Amino acid sequence: MPELPEVETVRRGLNKMIIGQKITAIDILYDKIIVGDVDTFKEQLIDATIAYVGRRAKYLLFNFDNGLTMISHLRMEGKYQVRSKISDFDKHVHIIFHLSNGEYLGYRDVRKFGRMQLVDTNDVTKVKSIALLGPEPLTPEFTYQSLLEGLKSTRKTVKATLLDQHVVSGLGNIYADEVLWLAKVHPEQPANELTTQQVKDLHNGINEDIKKAIDAGGTTIRSYVDATGHSGEFQFQLNVYGRQGKPCKRCETIIEKIKVAGRGTHFCPHCQVLQS
Ligand SMILES: [Zn+2]
Repeated sequence: MPELPEVETVRRGLNKMIIGQKITAIDILYDKIIVGDVDTFKEQLIDATIAYVGRRAKYLLFNFDNGLTMISHLRMEGKYQVRSKISDFDKHVHIIFHLSNGEYLGYRDVRKFGRMQLVDTNDVTKVKSIALLGPEPLTPEFTYQSLLEGLKSTRKTVKATLLDQHVVSGLGNIYADEVLWLAKVHPEQPANELTTQQVKDLHNGINEDIKKAIDAGGTTIRSYVDATGHSGEFQFQLNVYGRQGKPCKRCETIIEKIKVAGRGTHFCPHCQVLQS
């Protein structure tokens, strides 16, 4: 699943390629990707010009010059491709925006879980899925204090808390494992039991890891590619995710994989001890 750094990479790629383009037609080959009425979606976007692609956590925000914003969530495997011919798209491309420069912006999603929703730009922050999001890493709103208060407010495991997007937004399964390893916190530790030092380490770890991953263009795990079709320039180095059975990079203890919050979870049993 693309996480914040991957979505940010896609956003940057899109801004290089499609800003200023007018939508001249839209082919919708799979209706369920569009939230709401498909004909209205088309009518409202045809002749609109793409002003800027923004982002909130893992949501892409396509801002148009007519005061509308298309909120796009890639979910498991969604991705955007820009091509010069429609025949360059394969059967997994379900939405095709025809652009005024003669190119096509395609939305490809093998599993069809992605969603697009058109709203007034002024109402983006009121859309439920976005209104519930916690502060983002690397922003002034994401402080040690906000993280501490968020963690103190729940008895769920710290891993589940990082995944649920209310305390901090943008982390998915990969980066949740990575930041817990960095902060030496066991993924099953109840969130409200972390020590002051652990919360500080977690806060720093989240910011550092997300920054490094954005700089690297995200990970290349799964079939992720950015809008240009190229994978990240150099792969972000994962410390613990996917490394079960391999030695911990800090202490050489074998990394274990367990299930936490229903998700495969990787941790070092020596560095990340469950405290009771
Ligand atoms: Zn270790």
